[in-house]
Amino acid sequence: MGQIRLLPETVANQVAAGEVVERPASVVKELVENSIDAGARKIDILIRRGGISLVRVIDDGCGMDRDDALLSLERHATSKIRSAADLQAVATLGFRGEALPSIASVSRFRLITREAHAIAGTEIIVNGGKLDIVRDGGEAPGTHVEVRSLFYNIPARRKFLRSENTESRNIEHQIQLQAIGHSQIAFSLLRDDRMLFQLPAAATLTDRIRDLYGAELLDRLVEVNGTPSRQIRIGGFIGQAGLSRQSRAQQIVFVNGRSIESSFISAAIREGYHTALMKGQYPVMFLFLELDPAAVDVNVHPSKREVRFRDPTGVRQAIVRCIQQTLEGGRAAWQEKFRAAAVAAADVSGKAAPDLRLRPEVSSFEELHRELPHFSPATSHRVTTGATVAGVGDPGIGSSSSSIGQVLRLPAPRVDSPSDALALQRSQRLAGQQEFQIIGVLSKLYVLMENADGLVLVDQHAAHERILFEELRRRMEEQGVPTQKLLLPQTFDVPPRDADWIERNLSILQRMGIGIESFGPGSFKIDSVPSFLDVSDPAQFMRKVIDDLKGAANSASAMRLGEEMIAKSVCRHAVKANDPLRYPEVEKLIRDLLDCDLPYCCPHGRPTMIQISLAELEKKFGRKV
Ligand code: ADP
Ligand code: MG
Repeated sequence: MGQIRLLPETVANQVAAGEVVERPASVVKELVENSIDAGARKIDILIRRGGISLVRVIDDGCGMDRDDALLSLERHATSKIRSAADLQAVATLGFRGEALPSIASVSRFRLITREAHAIAGTEIIVNGGKLDIVRDGGEAPGTHVEVRSLFYNIPARRKFLRSENTESRNIEHQIQLQAIGHSQIAFSLLRDDRMLFQLPAAATLTDRIRDLYGAELLDRLVEVNGTPSRQIRIGGFIGQAGLSRQSRAQQIVFVNGRSIESSFISAAIREGYHTALMKGQYPVMFLFLELDPAAVDVNVHPSKREVRFRDPTGVRQAIVRCIQQTLEGGRAAWQEKFRAAAVAAADVSGKAAPDLRLRPEVSSFEELHRELPHFSPATSHRVTTGATVAGVGDPGIGSSSSSIGQVLRLPAPRVDSPSDALALQRSQRLAGQQEFQIIGVLSKLYVLMENADGLVLVDQHAAHERILFEELRRRMEEQGVPTQKLLLPQTFDVPPRDADWIERNLSILQRMGIGIESFGPGSFKIDSVPSFLDVSDPAQFMRKVIDDLKGAANSASAMRLGEEMIAKSVCRHAVKANDPLRYPEVEKLIRDLLDCDLPYCCPHGRPTMIQISLAELEKKFGRKV
């Protein structure tokens, strides 16, 4: 008996601080969240030495009277919820009533606060959890919190802190998160007397993203336009296919206004991007999920960074669908850019000097229509009307085999033969319908094009991969996957659980081009595989497919696995770098690419094209600073 004791208040607060206050960035997070909950329009943050020596947050929010200010430093004291029932639908960022007492227990803490109509404010000083001073304070309405010498009384904790630089970066990231989530609030961050950013209250999320990350990033984002389900609303911006980062720092997700980190949501995002994202890379996005507060549990962890969903499958599907739709919808705007350029170009060439318009290197009419050696006939229907000619010239007489890469701009086309005349006629007829303008091919790999923004470089190999990939996928969806029979059917055994799984998914496997049937208990016979795959050991191939498929939760995902198999194989079939392409081939490649659902990246998520803007060129040439 007599072994169990209630911990003194200060010690209890320090224990709680272990979870709430991990590092200076968590102090910033809690204080800024309090300011937001207090209805602040403007939040100014100052940090010194990575926030270890000082974090100061000043807001113009509602402030507190003296009683509330004193109470706010008691554990479990909060103005934000009153009963357990309120926990079901938390509308504020805070609700646990832990942050202020926790922070004050591990630092030298000073709070100055004043309500708008009050004559005087209150100043409270707490050192290591011990209340030292309470007096009148004379600041402007709002709340001013200073946290000095974090963990000065807990040396063990202090040892876990990283360098000042790292801690500063964490803080900066934390404030960026809040700034994205609350664009109507003005934020400023001063680091050791240097202004890191000063964001005016922004009218829209677009303005805030531009202010924080620049117009160039904004240009590569697509506004989310999915209406995925009735339970969940999804808004914000996501990066175009092909835009990615090495870290998750710009993969920013809010659930009901709260920035959260969730491996569950990350997995859904990855599934949504699928082949539009390089392996090991992360997308850029500012995604806002809104659902009924009762459908989300935010009380999972003291730092409130994790959430639990009542219907995780529904949320996952909504995210996946929304990202897919948005990426494919973003294509229209993207194509528009090329059209805009073409109209401008047609105007100029039409008025000024029609003679200067150049024609493709064509030695016969047949050649104009010749298919790329690797192109499947099925893609040919996509070549619609126009032949685009401007920008590529005749390399000269007798050099019909030279590649586009060597082609220079030359004046007035020559007409040497009737077939040339035909081609020229055709190109002149269609000149008004130009959609893009090809300048040439660099290093037998990069197609150079012009659009309204400047220069576009297309990787011909990546582009062809994307085209083949979508073609194969379309065929897979329409007619199932083409298969090749094995010379000798193979039988293989699997453990009972896998056998059961195969039985249940036979039809999906067959749709994926795998000819498989039951061959006694726990045994299967496989007699065909997808024809575009090189399968040397069918049994091993099957085991891999089963493993992969078991990971995918539903049949939609299973079809996506089919896509992955295709993505792996197209690389081998696509035109390589260094395969010299002739002008009509390049033109067809670009045209087919523009017709793709996701033209801007190859099936492995690498970009197919890069834009170098006129502004960038002007900067490089010192025309503009
Ligand atoms: P919680 O935010 O979970 O309620 P905190 O310990 O962070 O717990 O804050 C306790 C209370 O102090 C809040 O509920 C709020 O009423 C008050 N408070 C804290 N910071 C501010 C602020 N910047 N402006 C006005 N009131 C504040
Ligand atoms: Mg709080």
